[in-house]
Amino acid sequence: MLKTDVVVIGAGAVGCAIAHELSKYKIDVLVVDMNEDVGGDASKSNSAIIHTGYDAAPGTLESQLVVAANSMYDELTQSLDVPFKRIGAILPAITQEQFDRLPEIKEKAFRNHVYDVEFKTGAELLEMEPNLNPEVKGGLYIPRESIIDPFIFVQALAENANTNGVEFMLGARVKDIKTENGKIKSVVTSCGEIETRYVINSAGLYCDEIAEMVGKAEYKVVARKGQFYILDKNTSCKVEHIVLPIPTKVTKGKLMCPTMHGNMLVGPTAEDQESKVDKSTTSAGLDSIAADVKNLVPNVNIRDTITQYSGLRPNRNPEGLHFDMYEDLEGYINLSGVRSTGLTLSVAMGKYVVQQMMYHGEELELKDNFISERKGIIKFSEQTPEVQDKLIKENPLYGNVICRCETITEAEIVDAINRPLGAKSVDAVKRRVRAGMGRCQGGFCGPKVIEILARETGRSTTDINKNNPGSYMVTGTTR
Ligand SMILES: Cc1cc2nc3c(=O)[nH]c(=O)nc-3n(C[C@H](O)[C@H](O)[C@H](O)COP(=O)(O)OP(=O)(O)OC[C@H]3O[C@@H](n4cnc5c(N)ncnc54)[C@H](O)[C@@H]3O)c2cc1C
Repeated sequence: MLKTDVVVIGAGAVGCAIAHELSKYKIDVLVVDMNEDVGGDASKSNSAIIHTGYDAAPGTLESQLVVAANSMYDELTQSLDVPFKRIGAILPAITQEQFDRLPEIKEKAFRNHVYDVEFKTGAELLEMEPNLNPEVKGGLYIPRESIIDPFIFVQALAENANTNGVEFMLGARVKDIKTENGKIKSVVTSCGEIETRYVINSAGLYCDEIAEMVGKAEYKVVARKGQFYILDKNTSCKVEHIVLPIPTKVTKGKLMCPTMHGNMLVGPTAEDQESKVDKSTTSAGLDSIAADVKNLVPNVNIRDTITQYSGLRPNRNPEGLHFDMYEDLEGYINLSGVRSTGLTLSVAMGKYVVQQMMYHGEELELKDNFISERKGIIKFSEQTPEVQDKLIKENPLYGNVICRCETITEAEIVDAINRPLGAKSVDAVKRRVRAGMGRCQGGFCGPKVIEILARETGRSTTDINKNNPGSYMVTGTTR
């Protein structure tokens, strides 16, 4: 039987951030995920905003963690080579009723210790963001709201944790957790049993099912779907900030913002549903996005959509972000209600979990050989012509452009496949280097990516999946 000190369930933002933090200490950690790739579930289908916590419920654990996390991103993204930009958010009030709510929202930001929120006049907002609704009466500016590449972020946390000794068991579903005398004993997975002292439940949508395995099912998770449009980089109407509506109780509302790669992101909806797997987009949901966002940015050109997607927020019932350890179950850490801000708060949660383990008597000693730097995949299209020439001379695969929309070379795809925790599927390649994320959505490069994956991993093209096992894209030859 495999043996470790800590099993982290879930390789999403939260699980990987915890593993990354633990990798600084002398303790054995194994991350288990039923997906074939790191990156999680909600963690790869969200708005990709690093929040400030201005609108969190004051005094809650969520507010503390989001507020604490925001300032960690400058250094962390630098050392892990993760695309991140502090572009700031604006909250325009279009109606008088919305305008009258601004002091209350600013006051809430203050209660959350987000002091740099500023009032702006309508004219000031229009100068910052000329495509705003000209009827804007004024609004708030939240300078530290930021955007990140959520895929690279989680991959980088995982890769760096792995460099520092954390093991990953992917494609392994946790089926049971065994306890003995009020202590965690082992985790049973579809790939075998693991003896462990700790289990950290960061299973997102399924954290209630994991909790049930140890008799701690005090809550249920209800999926709250969020649908999005992604607009072409050349769309006629763009924004430079995160343009947020005045939030409601249920949702932060439908926004428009740039992505790290220059597309426009428009959405999301907030729709509770029974299914934890239904990630379809619907015309009703998408129409509601278009209608709502037009109030903020009237000329948004939805016809420039290149794709739509949806993500499922792991909404806890009863609501709220919870961190639980139990006196009658030593070694079990339960995280639940990591709903709408989990991408942001993940890094603070990593630190919080480690501190709580110490409070509960775990003697964690820092490693003296922790490697804090991680280098991402070289982006050929962003290099100077001199550097590009040099790269091609060193490795001719840089001279072969596979994805024309995003200018991604064969060398980048090969690196994505062969680096630690590398890509095994077409979507995993896409999330690492953006091949297939452009205007044609993989229509041109898809078959070539399949061939490269087959060649590099020694498999047949018919064995290459779109994402998880069984989602093959090629069935055989036609002639
Ligand atoms: C529409 C939408 C918009 C959002 N926008 C933002 C935003 O702008 N900013 C922000 O900070 N947050 C945002 N969020 C929230 C954020 O995405 C989530 O809170 C966060 O990604 C949760 O991370 P996680 O690691 O807890 O869960 P996940 O990413 O869901 O990962 C959980 C992992 O657990 C694994 N797992 C589950 N059960 C098992 C099992 N039995 N065995 C093995 N593995 C298992 C799953 O396979 C999965 O990989 C948004 C979410 C959505 C859906």
